[in-house]
Amino acid sequence: MLAADREAILRRQATRESTARTYARSLPIVPVRARGLTIEGADGRRYLDCLSGAGSLALGHNHPVVLEAIRSVLDSGAPLHVLDLATPVKDDFTTELFDTLPAGLADRARVQFCGPAGTDAVEAALKLTRTATGRGGVLAFSGAYHGMTAGALGVGGSSGPPASDAGVTRLPYPYDYRCPFGTGGEEGADLAARYTENLLADPKGGVEPAAAMIVEPVQGEGGVIPAPDSWLRRMRRLTEQRGIPLIADEVQTGVGRTGTFWAVEHSGIVPDVMVLSKAIGGSLPLAVVVYDQDLDLWPQGAHAGTFRGNQLAMAAGAATLRYVRENELPARAARLGERMTAALRTLAGEHPCIGDVRGRGLMIGIELVDPTAGDAPHPPAPVLAAAVQRACLDRGLIVELGGRHESVVRLLPPLTITEEQTEAVLDRLADALAAAERGRPRGRRPSLSVLLGGAGRH
Ligand code: PMP
Repeated sequence: MLAADREAILRRQATRESTARTYARSLPIVPVRARGLTIEGADGRRYLDCLSGAGSLALGHNHPVVLEAIRSVLDSGAPLHVLDLATPVKDDFTTELFDTLPAGLADRARVQFCGPAGTDAVEAALKLTRTATGRGGVLAFSGAYHGMTAGALGVGGSSGPPASDAGVTRLPYPYDYRCPFGTGGEEGADLAARYTENLLADPKGGVEPAAAMIVEPVQGEGGVIPAPDSWLRRMRRLTEQRGIPLIADEVQTGVGRTGTFWAVEHSGIVPDVMVLSKAIGGSLPLAVVVYDQDLDLWPQGAHAGTFRGNQLAMAAGAATLRYVRENELPARAARLGERMTAALRTLAGEHPCIGDVRGRGLMIGIELVDPTAGDAPHPPAPVLAAAVQRACLDRGLIVELGGRHESVVRLLPPLTITEEQTEAVLDRLADALAAAERGRPRGRRPSLSVLLGGAGRH
């Protein structure tokens, strides 16, 4: 494609699309082809894509088993869309999904197909648990991200235009680097758990009786913050004792991303409800809520929606789940993730602007800070993070930004990334970091557009 045509597409996008557009702003490229980790832009350049559709491409772009699954539905003459009617494709997806569920939930599970976004499955989970318990409150965590519809926004950590957060109690999520109790480590996690235990035991704690606790086993958009297993087990024990259903939001952590098929497996807890989307659709839109049969008390039609029967997404999703399971990709993600994280920690030794490197499996975050200001934890460096993201793009690497202050560089490569590719990603990232640091506007405050624009969320 001619440079002029490419520029024209980007210009039309900028003038026609809303100011709320996200990735389109920070990643001004025009993808025309993609395979595995690689995206080819209309400029003929190749990019290593560590954004992976905001973590939805477990097998990377256009994996052959996904394409084959989609083609076989198309070639069979099966309907593409039949609301929530029974089809062999849906039956196969559900069987494959149930086969992967954590033991303890699998044999007691019910599934509700939702509108095809993670946020709709969150709404469904809230509605389900409120109906089943007859309570209105929800226990949620600071820094959480659960989606953009009203109920999901209400249990997230962002403030913004009024969302329906009535009855939501926000609790501290253990965040080692910026520990809300100033201690970090196991002590910080212990204090976070004690705070919650104490608050719920206090009859005058001001907490509305809770229909559910909703938690991400690793906070994604909040800055790639893995919950310590011991803390998660305490949250499980606490909710169990109080008869509060525990919702694990595995929209981003699911399907092998963190080194186990589902992230809750690290701690061994069995949630009452799991919210799933992103990778379960094998790159096409699909979302479900899976839950213990005892909660199945909502009436017929309680969570309807037109697009709950996308056959192509179910076929692509079943193929993805099967491939991840059969090829033991969670273990691969754990192995490669550990190596990448170790390499990034070495890099942090050379760059004081890296305040923290953390993650689980192939869900990795690099928190950038201003090391010249104060003691650790240093203040976040969102301007530097944006410069690193740009410098990465210049070097053919796509990364995501996230975190409370948009100062965490996030890596979410496909689970199929090769060892050679991880080296290439790390080389480009190190080079971009050095370049961004050299050009760093010392002591300058973020510009208004950076402050207002933020980075994308999906
Ligand atoms: N929950 C989590 C943990 C997520 O990361 C996201 C998306 N980033 C959502 C829910 C919302 O999913 P969607 O964007 O598909 O609505």
